[in-house]
Amino acid sequence: MSSQKGNVSRSRGQKYQNTTAFKNDKYGASVHVKKANAKVHDGLCQHCKDVLEWKVKYNKYKPLTQPRKCVKCSQKTVKDAYHIMCKPCALTLQLCAKCGKQEEIVIPVGSQNQEEKEDSSQTHKGHTKKKKDPDRDDDDDEDDYDDELDDDDDDF
Ligand SMILES: [Zn+2]
Ligand SMILES: [Zn+2]
Repeated sequence: MSSQKGNVSRSRGQKYQNTTAFKNDKYGASVHVKKANAKVHDGLCQHCKDVLEWKVKYNKYKPLTQPRKCVKCSQKTVKDAYHIMCKPCALTLQLCAKCGKQEEIVIPVGSQNQEEKEDSSQTHKGHTKKKKDPDRDDDDDEDDYDDELDDDDDDF
């Protein structure tokens, strides 16, 4: 009983504890936050990817409400917040879609499809198992083999 009293006083203090370990989906994530959390920051350099992941983590990521103008093709094709060029341009020019610099891209554009490829390779393995076995016609042999094994056990 005495320990419960301690718990009551402690739960009050928890109101201010979330400043140390901040998680934006702790208190019922909004649709925007959930979308941002699941977002793959492809076509970006390490620095820009870190910046966007930081923004998502601290609820500072604001998705675009309408497409932005791409600095390369001048079309309103930029659908990702903070990006200055569209994914196709970043891909063909090998530039970071956010800072526009020629940096090493961490997650190449369109790399999300790679998981599907791995799955299909597994099904291929199953197909290769169906090899033609020349010994399969002699079903009688298998039965004889089982009988021989039983005899061996008796000897020991
Ligand atoms: Zn473009
Ligand atoms: Zn960048």
